[in-house]
Amino acid sequence: MNKAYIKFWGVRGSNPTPDQNKMKYGGDTSCVEIRTSQNDVIILDMGTGIRRLGEEIIKDSSYPKEINIFLSHYHWDHIIGFLYFKPLYDAKYTINIYGYNKKTSLSELSNALINKSFWPVEKDIYKAKINFIDLPESSNQIKSIKLNENKIHYSLHPHPNGANSFKVDTKNKQIVYITDCEHPEGRLNKNVVNIAQGCDILIHDSHFSIKDFTNYKGWGHSSWKQAADVAITAEVKQLVLFHYCPDYDDSQVEINEKNAQKKFINTIAAYQGLSIEI
Ligand SMILES: [Zn+2]
Ligand SMILES: [Zn+2]
Repeated sequence: MNKAYIKFWGVRGSNPTPDQNKMKYGGDTSCVEIRTSQNDVIILDMGTGIRRLGEEIIKDSSYPKEINIFLSHYHWDHIIGFLYFKPLYDAKYTINIYGYNKKTSLSELSNALINKSFWPVEKDIYKAKINFIDLPESSNQIKSIKLNENKIHYSLHPHPNGANSFKVDTKNKQIVYITDCEHPEGRLNKNVVNIAQGCDILIHDSHFSIKDFTNYKGWGHSSWKQAADVAITAEVKQLVLFHYCPDYDDSQVEINEKNAQKKFINTIAAYQGLSIEI
């Protein structure tokens, strides 16, 4: 049996922020690793945080050779780490990349990522077996796929061009990952509440403070307060704030975390390197 955990490799929203006053929470963009007791590796998004995770996977031989990556959506801050993910250059690995978008297939995405006009790596330099797998359309219902002993449930939530929520149902815990989500004005998105219902750990977009949130309608994000509202409404056990505005320094994220804890006590603001046992 493996020690099961969630580890946060990148928690920043929109763009990397290698700034001194942002080092407590970190500057890499979205990447969360779930390692199960059965030694499965499920990676949520491949922002710049996946670079160091890739180094760890190469170094640590206890990692499985099959790696599964689920993409919430295809905005740069969630995909650009592909270029720097070392297991792609090693024939030992099979890398399955899952996603769903109504307008863009994963083969279109792969053509953009593996394109020597933009990055000087040709297809044959990637030695791993790479499978781009479009998930079946979920529209307004929760769909599921099986991954070894785990179930991955997914549904859509509002974001420019759409994004997917995921619930990873491992043997031990249910972990829900909802990032880049703009709830409808004055209420919570139904799919989000449904998929989060009763889960052990909810990782939720908390890009904005309440004040800034009102100035950025249509940008596709949540405030820390909406993250707490989802946690309360869906009766989750623990809330993890995630995907911070790149303009926020550590003290602003700390303020948001404290405010969220006043609403929902079992809240933590994710930081780069945070590991939670599951
Ligand atoms: Zn994002
Ligand atoms: Zn986005």
